[in-house]
Amino acid sequence: MPPSLDRSPPALAPPLREVVGTSTEGRPIYLESLPAAPGGPRILLIGGQHGDEPLARAAVSGFLPRWRAEKMAAGVQLAAIPDLNPDGRAAGTRTNAAGIDLNRDHQRLRGAETQALHQLVRRWQPQLIVDVHTYPPRRKHLLRQGWTYAHDLFLDLPNNPSLLPGVADKRLTTGMQGVLDRLGEDGFLADRYLLVRRSGRVRHSTADAVDARNHLALRYGIPVILVEGKQPPRRTTEAAGWRTQQAVIRTLHHIVAWSIEYLGQPRDRTEQDPAPRRVALRCRYQPATAPAHLRLEQVDSGQLCDVVLPGPYTPSLRPTSYVSLPDAYAVPKALSRVVQLLAAHGWRGQPLGPQRSAPGPGLAQQYQIQNCVPSRRPHRAARQVQLATHPYPGSLDDYLLYPTAAAGGRCLAVLLEPHSKYGLARYDEYGLSLRPGQDYPVLRWNA
Ligand SMILES: [Zn+2]
Repeated sequence: MPPSLDRSPPALAPPLREVVGTSTEGRPIYLESLPAAPGGPRILLIGGQHGDEPLARAAVSGFLPRWRAEKMAAGVQLAAIPDLNPDGRAAGTRTNAAGIDLNRDHQRLRGAETQALHQLVRRWQPQLIVDVHTYPPRRKHLLRQGWTYAHDLFLDLPNNPSLLPGVADKRLTTGMQGVLDRLGEDGFLADRYLLVRRSGRVRHSTADAVDARNHLALRYGIPVILVEGKQPPRRTTEAAGWRTQQAVIRTLHHIVAWSIEYLGQPRDRTEQDPAPRRVALRCRYQPATAPAHLRLEQVDSGQLCDVVLPGPYTPSLRPTSYVSLPDAYAVPKALSRVVQLLAAHGWRGQPLGPQRSAPGPGLAQQYQIQNCVPSRRPHRAARQVQLATHPYPGSLDDYLLYPTAAAGGRCLAVLLEPHSKYGLARYDEYGLSLRPGQDYPVLRWNA
């Protein structure tokens, strides 16, 4: 363990605290921040999306006074929501009081807690977000073979295929490797998040746009770093929890220290999207040429071993289908759930002006669903989707326009295109489900 980490908290006043929202059961959601000269990069830390991860909360709230005690606070504006899910904390549950897993709710925003977080992000506009969790190292399918996960900590980055490449650029990836190296020097075992599924498949974090990491990156262009500390066993020694908490605190230290330089420089221009009006809607996992290795702990001996994982390893994604952004999407006002959701994401639809209420043919295009095979699994996109388009013959009086030139316009395509793997058509409640032979209600509109 690093010698600088002692158990006594720094003797300093607590960070400033304000209420930024209210949970489902009416508990306050607090934002803690360090007083800092304005102008430095803004970094937001999130903890406790899952109510049953007390170490994640403790590490996030423990980090701020430490950072200040090390007199590092001057160069950065640092704020934290250590406990986004106070109802889950009170009940000891992963979900909020309405049974919603908050870290699967960033697309649909059904939870008061996720809505509060997104409002804060729009108001404060952080340039980097760190989302802190803990992971259970004991998984049944690994235990059967005598293994548990050994890593003190895993990190991961946004990987949704529709992100603008500059959001998760090479400097971010290199920076994360630097953070992992520093953690190694501190004596912690840390790596990019790598999961062995029950099927044997080996994957990194999901590419879906429902979690904080991918959705906030997609909607607001903010890099979001996922931190997963090792959850100690339930009947644990204090030392196991202490070690994880210190691993997370050191991680936050290294991330924030690195990000001051990272955020002070412009994004990597060589990785700017050559076709920024083109958005990936579908992708495939790409198999690696060699199997993955992972250091695992032998249950009986407690020994760490480098294990070759025999299952298929798919470390990256290859887009298989794109769409070009229209000038705007036209959403029928009657689709009130879609209109409400877009408003919760900060988009206000505009009616067409009276002089344009009868657009000529070709201005608005409508999809017809020619074929599709609905998924048997809930909340999965239909397969074998075949679309045709025709000019929309009617008036747009009962539509609202959502221009894609606005910030996060790519996110509109991901949500609204019928072919999108991660869109709203996969949920029943929005009235966008695909049925062969039917017209799709959302239109593409070009001036
Ligand atoms: Zn979690």
